[in-house]
Amino acid sequence: MDLNFVSSIDPPREKSQPAWWFVFKVHALIVSEDGKALSVPFIQGVSALGLKPIREWYLGTLNGHHCYCAEVPENSPLPEGMVSYGLRYLYGRIEEPFHKIAMKASHIIEWDRTDRYCSRCRMEMNRAKAIRAKECPNCSFLSFPRISPAIIILIERDNRVLLARVKRFTTELYSVLAGFVEPGESLEEAAKREVEEEVGIRIKNIRYFGSQPWPFPDSLMIGFTAEYESGEITIDEAEVSDAGWFDPDNLPTIPGKISIARQLIDWFAEEKLREKNTAVPKKERKYAPHE
Ligand SMILES: [Zn+2]
Repeated sequence: MDLNFVSSIDPPREKSQPAWWFVFKVHALIVSEDGKALSVPFIQGVSALGLKPIREWYLGTLNGHHCYCAEVPENSPLPEGMVSYGLRYLYGRIEEPFHKIAMKASHIIEWDRTDRYCSRCRMEMNRAKAIRAKECPNCSFLSFPRISPAIIILIERDNRVLLARVKRFTTELYSVLAGFVEPGESLEEAAKREVEEEVGIRIKNIRYFGSQPWPFPDSLMIGFTAEYESGEITIDEAEVSDAGWFDPDNLPTIPGKISIARQLIDWFAEEKLREKNTAVPKKERKYAPHE
């Protein structure tokens, strides 16, 4: 069945119908567990779980059914048959459209929880009308959910890919380079700067790959591919503990399938394998960007 989500800000007047409820206990989503199957509850409201929300937002409709998100207190007991998991764990364990809506829900809940007071005059803000924002009742300052753009880039040199182990990773994971965009920078400038800062090389032929909302807590990852131009790897030891060129046949431990990092690496590995084994025309990129 195709699932079609339509984002919307205006909730229906009454909650008279069952709806999809994306309810969080801090960062964990409450789902029902039926044997091994996990699913988002389709219920009349948070009270159907015997719980009381501390915040609640309308999200839109999924195949005509309303969707809401809410947060319940951290110490809320879960009713029989319900469990709660982080969104990384739930990837591939609940249906993809539900996971995508849960990512959006998580971002909105986190914003609502952390952005409560006007940053101009310190008054507690109200919800704005007709837009997903908050408005200060004193000075009319508007605050939108913060979205922090970050570039993520796969760099290729002689059929090998640049992967680095970043110090903030707690595991032995190697990934493509990523970094936040600074004020005044284009995405391409951010990519060049980040690569030069972290591994000391120059890149060329930067091409858009695709993007992914990453609400941990509020990023938007914008993926690119590029080719090596010049320089030798010199790591920024404050941020990177190791970096090198890897053959797609012999990759180290890489990120899980939820991430665009993994999608970039998988795309590259498939592309190289295909080039090696066949002479068929170039496969379309997974994201089919503007080519
Ligand atoms: Zn204000």
